[in-house]
Amino acid sequence: MAQKIVAGNWKMNLESDEAFQLIDELNTELEESDVRVIVFPPSLYVLPLSKMNKGSYEVGVQNFYTAESGAYTGEIAIDQIKSVGGSIGLIGHSERREYFNETNAFLKEKVDVAIEKDFDFIFCCGEPLEIRESGKQADFVKLQLEESLFHLNAKQMEDVIIAYEPIWAIGTGVTATAEQAEMMHKDIRSWVADKFGQETADKVTILYGGSCKPGNAEELFSCANIDGGLIGGASLKSTDFSAIIKAF
Ligand code: PEP
Repeated sequence: MAQKIVAGNWKMNLESDEAFQLIDELNTELEESDVRVIVFPPSLYVLPLSKMNKGSYEVGVQNFYTAESGAYTGEIAIDQIKSVGGSIGLIGHSERREYFNETNAFLKEKVDVAIEKDFDFIFCCGEPLEIRESGKQADFVKLQLEESLFHLNAKQMEDVIIAYEPIWAIGTGVTATAEQAEMMHKDIRSWVADKFGQETADKVTILYGGSCKPGNAEELFSCANIDGGLIGGASLKSTDFSAIIKAF
């Protein structure tokens, strides 16, 4: 069975005192539940946030590099992240693809190193507005998955967490309707089933991301193929983030 996950991508927001306050609030507000809760702060804060953790969330990173160590100024390696308590990383967020030129081929390398290092990851995919308007969103997203994930074997694939994040819905306040999101999630699961078998497809977790907030989370999460959410803006307010988690 797929996992239930709500993850908060803080992006390049919050100074340290604000980050610590948000975590303090989450430590108070989050209740025991069967939802896996993950926060992705700027990597500077992974160590203190891991130390402040009372057990109701995991701490992840928004980015990591493919090399083991060495002369890669500004980059961080998976072993370093693990050594400060980080347990999971984002791969292929649209902002990394757009502003840092991360290609499907490079993201495939990240996927491979994460698997080799036994490091969980959320693989992000999603189409820009012009592709949605041309009606070619399914082909676009399928290619992202084929070029970065579909070389895996079924055992590796079943642990993969995919986040479908239509770029036109990220940070815009425009959410995909539950129907639009479910249609893409259903397609993603069926492509995984065609390639790896239905049993594997049923285990793959598929999150929705893009202006998800307390007011629309319940409708989105009640869709058959939506296993949770990757939340940007609304993860910066503890009341909104915990309300989204409770929407399950
Ligand atoms: C994101 O950046 O992953 C995201 C979903 O952002 P927002 O919720 O702000 O649209």
